Amino acid sequence: MGESAEQIHPKKAYGWAARDSSGVLSPFNFSRRETGEKDVTFKVMYCGICHSDLHMLKNEWGNSAYPLVPGHEIAGVVTEVGSKVEKFKVGDKVGVGCIVGSCHSCDNCSKNLENYCPKMLLTYGVKYYDGTITYGGYSDTMVADEHFVISIPDNLPLDAGAPLLCAGITVYSPMKYYGLDKPGLHVGVVGLGGLGHVAVKFAKAMGVKVTVISTSPNKKKEAIEHLGADSFLVSRNQDEMLPAMGTFDGIIDTVSASHPVLPLLGLLKTNGKLILVGAPEKPLELPVFPLLFGRKIVAGSAIGGMKETQEMINFAAKHNITADIEVIPVDYVNTALERLMKADVKYRFVIDIANTLKPTSSI
Ligand SMILES: [Zn+2]
Ligand SMILES: [Zn+2]
Repeated sequence: MGESAEQIHPKKAYGWAARDSSGVLSPFNFSRRETGEKDVTFKVMYCGICHSDLHMLKNEWGNSAYPLVPGHEIAGVVTEVGSKVEKFKVGDKVGVGCIVGSCHSCDNCSKNLENYCPKMLLTYGVKYYDGTITYGGYSDTMVADEHFVISIPDNLPLDAGAPLLCAGITVYSPMKYYGLDKPGLHVGVVGLGGLGHVAVKFAKAMGVKVTVISTSPNKKKEAIEHLGADSFLVSRNQDEMLPAMGTFDGIIDTVSASHPVLPLLGLLKTNGKLILVGAPEKPLELPVFPLLFGRKIVAGSAIGGMKETQEMINFAAKHNITADIEVIPVDYVNTALERLMKADVKYRFVIDIANTLKPTSSI
């Protein structure tokens, strides 16, 4: 056998980890690598709680490695940079999202689409190049190759900005790629959670007309008055849905539970696009006739490449786009995850790492 994790990773770190698929988090001591020549090490200030943290914690996608330190909406302040780092210096505000590695040589990587690199490495819960397991942002420090570190502009707050590193890019990237970012277009947002609420904000900033499509009529006031949506459709209400048929250029569907897509296809104009960014565990039923008659597209999208993630953060800073957050202490994290499972949060939990995560003597 080769070196132990402690030999490869001599720097002491601490955070909260799940030890098994119960998904229950508790204090955890571990270690991180020294700052390599291309690495940026930073003190974690805030980390968002993403819905995929729930899936990973409970091993619902079948690939979780334990102990599992989640967190891929990580924002902090640089404490050390390697000798060959060009973009960052000590004291800079930075973030790391879902990715900490890719091959840098495949077709996707050459097009700044590291997110679609077959060798892409996730920020937590997977094997890194040195054989150790990657640990995420529910921890005191983070180290990553500068290529995967995002610069956070001064006017973007680290707490409400952190969720943009996953939720933000997840909705921004498809709006750009599928051309739903043009002023005057009509775009729907299905589901008003962590992803959906920032989708509304980005779409408004891009100048499109935004309609929130939801099963719960009680979200209407919030969607229009607080988030700035232009209109609201209750998807189960035929009196509202029928007049809206054929009026959407595109729909960003953020729902991660199984749901019917037929009504959404009906809402699209000819050439309209239904873009799925949530990940339902079971296959969706896809009726083909509505696709043929209207030349409609059903497509997917997953986060974004590093160049586009930086572009998204800069766009957010310019347009004052942040997530609506509930800041919590780290010892509230298990309760927060239970509440997230019930969609009982407006709209993203963010852990105040710097002020509430304390070193622990337990393993
Ligand atoms: Zn995420
Ligand atoms: Zn690649």
